[in-house]
Amino acid sequence: MTESLSNEAVFRDIEENYTQISQTLEDACVQAGIKRSDVRFMAVTKTVQPVFINHALQLGIDLIGENKVQELLEKKEFLNGSYEAHLIGHLQTNKVKKIIREVTMIQSVDSLHLAEEISKQAKNAELTMPVLLELNIGGEESKTGFMPDGFIEAALQIAELPSIEICGLMSVPPICENEREIRTWFSRVRCEYERLKGHPKLSNMNTLSMGMSSDYREAVLEGANLVRVGSALFGRRRY
Ligand SMILES: *Cc1c(COP(=O)(O)O)cnc(C)c1O
Repeated sequence: MTESLSNEAVFRDIEENYTQISQTLEDACVQAGIKRSDVRFMAVTKTVQPVFINHALQLGIDLIGENKVQELLEKKEFLNGSYEAHLIGHLQTNKVKKIIREVTMIQSVDSLHLAEEISKQAKNAELTMPVLLELNIGGEESKTGFMPDGFIEAALQIAELPSIEICGLMSVPPICENEREIRTWFSRVRCEYERLKGHPKLSNMNTLSMGMSSDYREAVLEGANLVRVGSALFGRRRY
């Protein structure tokens, strides 16, 4: 049935979903004792057609996230309005050059080697690239991101590079059974964030990107100030 949904019906779904997400975020902010404006909402647009992304932009969403360079570049041509785009997926060093002028942040820096290439390409492009370090907080082999061991040392090395600015952390914790478990992982990421921020070279960090469709509420309660929501907004992804 869903295959035959008209664009209009999908637009309405996106609107309803956004209303509901906004309410949940609002409530979470109240519970966390912060202002709603302190939390940035990202619409994760991977696999979503530009016509629907444009509808989300019309609703006032101003930040999108894509996990593939090629997909982002192809879709950008069809997007209207003012918005920022962040890369949130694993980035190969040979694609850094292509993306360096196309995004305002790379959230998925997962190695010193990648950071070095970003630094080099940003310098060539005469800009400073804001980045987040991706932390594989669960130490899962199947995931990208820095392992918790040795992470701080890598961060401090990256902080020395020119034309790249570490703004904070991004993390996708392991899949959890319940709210208590997921909150524990988020609070661990928060701890690492605060620990890094304690370093003079990293004291300007201001972004903690965690929480997706199933757990953005819990993430906000544990200190996230950027949530990345895809399927709860656009519906189930069809690859
Ligand atoms: C796909 C993706 C999301 C959004 O996932 P949903 O569960 O659909 O909200 C968030 N962050 C990253 C890094 C992703 O790849």
